[in-house]
Amino acid sequence: MGVNLLQKLFFLLPLAYQSPSNDGTSQNTDWNFDQNGADWQGICATGFRQSPMKLSVDSSLIVPLPRIYFGNYDVPLKRPLTLVNKGYTADMTIPETRNGQKPFITGGLLKGRYVAEGVHFHWGSPVTRGSEHVIDRRRFDVEMHIVHRSTRYEDLTEALNHIDGVAVLGVMFKIVRNPHRAYPGLRKIFNAVPDIVEYGAEMDLPGSLTLGQLLGDLNTRDFFTYKGSLTTPECNEAVTWTVFADPLPISLADISKLWILQDSNGNLIRNNYRELQPRNNRPVFYRTNKDLSNFYLG
Ligand SMILES: [Zn+2]
Repeated sequence: MGVNLLQKLFFLLPLAYQSPSNDGTSQNTDWNFDQNGADWQGICATGFRQSPMKLSVDSSLIVPLPRIYFGNYDVPLKRPLTLVNKGYTADMTIPETRNGQKPFITGGLLKGRYVAEGVHFHWGSPVTRGSEHVIDRRRFDVEMHIVHRSTRYEDLTEALNHIDGVAVLGVMFKIVRNPHRAYPGLRKIFNAVPDIVEYGAEMDLPGSLTLGQLLGDLNTRDFFTYKGSLTTPECNEAVTWTVFADPLPISLADISKLWILQDSNGNLIRNNYRELQPRNNRPVFYRTNKDLSNFYLG
C-alpha cells in the first residue's frame, strides 16, 4: 500500500498543476460533496429558490404546458465530445453542430431559446443512489444534467446573474439487470469513464455524436418544471429546471464505472449530489401526456 500511495502522489502532483480545461474556468475547487453541500456556507447562495427539490405528482400543478422542443439535437456535433474529470463530476462542453449552430431547447416554462453548454452527472456509490432530485419519494441511481444558457445573454457566466438565464434538463438513470435497449451515445460516454479516473484527465469520445443521442429513447413528454438554482457553488438562482419523470434503464456495469473516478486529492468521487432544499411554497408544474383521470378519482 505504501508504494502504491507514493505512486499515486507522483501522479497527482503534476495533475494538480495541469492547465484548466477548455472552458477556461479553474477546476481546483475549494469545496466538495463530503457533506452533500451542508458545509457550503459563504460560497453558496442562500435564497428561497434553491435546488434540488423533492418532486411529486400530487404536490404539483398539472398544467397543459407545451412539450420541450429540441432544436439541432439531431444534427451531428462539429467536434468529438471530450469527457473531463473535473474533480467533482464528469463533464463535457457542448460544441456547435455541423450546421454551425448550437443544439437548443425551448418549450415548457421557457421563454425563447436556450443553447446547450455542457453535460455532467451526479451519482451515488455501490450502496447508495445519487440522483439530486427525488421523484415521488424515490432517489434514482444517477442524474444527468444538460445545462443550457438563454440566448439573451452573452455567455454562461453572464446568464448565471439572471433569474431566466439558465435552463437545465434533468435525466434520471436507473440500474436494471438486463437493459433491453442500447444507447450508443451513453455507451460511448460510459466506455470513456475508465480513461478519466484521475482529476483533470480528458478523453475524446470516438466518432460523431448528436446531443439527442444522450437522451436515448427517453420519454420527454412527461416532466416536472420549476424555478430553482445550480446545485453546486455558487448555487445561483438562475435555473429553470425541467426534470423528466421517467428514467432511462442503464446497466450496473456502466453506472459502476463512475464510482472509480477520483478527485484532486485522489479520493473517490461518490455521492456527488446536493442535499434536498426547502420548497418554500414554490409552484412545481407537472406536464404529462398520460391520462390522469383515475388519479383524481383516487
Ligand atoms: Zn448538476
